[in-house]
Amino acid sequence: MDEYKNTRRSQIRRMPAPERVMIPLSQHIGAPCTPCVAPGDTVTRGQVIGRTEGLGCPVHSSVSGVVREIAERHDARGRAVQTVCIDNDGHNTLCPDLAPYEGLLCEADPDRMIELIREAGIVGMGGAGFPAYAKISSARGKAELLIVNCAECEPFITANHRLLLENPASVINGAKILLKALGVTRGVLAVEDNKLDAANKLEQLLDGDQLLRVRVLKTKYPQGDERQLIYVLTGKQLPVGKLPADAGCVIFNAETCASVYQAFAHGMPVVERTVTVDGDCIANPKNVLVPIGTPIRDLIEFCGGYRAQPKKLLNGGPMMGQALHDPDSPVTKTTSAVLAFSEKFSPAPKEDYRCIRCGKCVQACPMHLMPIYLSQYLRAGNLEACLQYGANSCIECGCCTYICPGRVPIVQHIRVAKGKLREQKMAAEAAARRSEKEGKNGAK
Ligand code: SF4
Ligand code: SF4
Repeated sequence: MDEYKNTRRSQIRRMPAPERVMIPLSQHIGAPCTPCVAPGDTVTRGQVIGRTEGLGCPVHSSVSGVVREIAERHDARGRAVQTVCIDNDGHNTLCPDLAPYEGLLCEADPDRMIELIREAGIVGMGGAGFPAYAKISSARGKAELLIVNCAECEPFITANHRLLLENPASVINGAKILLKALGVTRGVLAVEDNKLDAANKLEQLLDGDQLLRVRVLKTKYPQGDERQLIYVLTGKQLPVGKLPADAGCVIFNAETCASVYQAFAHGMPVVERTVTVDGDCIANPKNVLVPIGTPIRDLIEFCGGYRAQPKKLLNGGPMMGQALHDPDSPVTKTTSAVLAFSEKFSPAPKEDYRCIRCGKCVQACPMHLMPIYLSQYLRAGNLEACLQYGANSCIECGCCTYICPGRVPIVQHIRVAKGKLREQKMAAEAAARRSEKEGKNGAK
């Protein structure tokens, strides 16, 4: 597979905050936040503007200014989400409550550390958006190995690579904080061999460190998938429905580690992130440090705008990213890349796709599934067979679709099947709850 890591030498450039940011109150897996500011309020950079009591973590303002409105807007995935719109006053006034962690890390109380990570709004910044504090809590006592995912295996994306080259200490220090919070004494920084310069930098800095070491992995998509990483590093296969902690591992992305370091060293919550902006339609592709809430349209302008009208805009990488319907939607904590492609990179889906039974999709599947059967059963409306053939094990890596000579949109079919299976399961659970309730009422 071509890597197209065109921006690997593009130093991270900080983008000035725009005149207005739009900060969605749901940027993580879990319950959306409830706003704790109102239109007309003055806010500072790093101030909490939304909180949730359930699974989830706070959302912070990335600029200082005045809340203009709180309204439903579409996020990059096309979901309608409550969003706080803030007019930037340009003063960049920091929230007075922000303070670095004081005290010795070796004496730190893990519960206090986990709370601090929650308060800083840290989520999986590789794209998953799972709250970091919840991952630490559930892995404590189970995990024995911390894996720092520095694979960045998707084509085009180089934001983590640049972070490892330009600020490797933040990733290493963040990983050490996580080790302490997890109560784990072993960590591995997993880097693909197309980033040997970054691996060397990390090794120099670690200099024989007892806690962390670097493992260089073969460059192979989808090496950065959690199951692949666990297998290649430990030899353990993670069954479907199991978490990495069930295999004694816990995995954090490199930028997530750097965010943990920022929170402890500077008291800074997640208010910005690095995004790769690339694709053959972008005038000046680059890696950009962007305030959360920046409209993607402004980010593209910062990269010189379009050199040609794109046929397809993507939020994320070309394999696992999703179509970006609205360029006015904002950058969030999980935006790793924005890609703009011409027809060359996004051929229109073929209406008359046809399976020639070559078997290439089966060979390409890293989860050892039968992608073609999944696609066929979905089209036949046989969800039961989709389930039996392991649709829920599909990691949506897109390898099958990429390799298919018949241009069958296999991964799209599997996504539909998984969505329908999820709906079925939820409906069955709701029905079971209803009948349980009715049973109890009848017994009274
Ligand atoms: S790769 Fe495409 S053409 Fe070949 S078996 Fe799979 S679906 Fe059919
Ligand atoms: S997207 Fe295709 S290749 Fe990837 S795991 Fe799913 S079925 Fe296998």
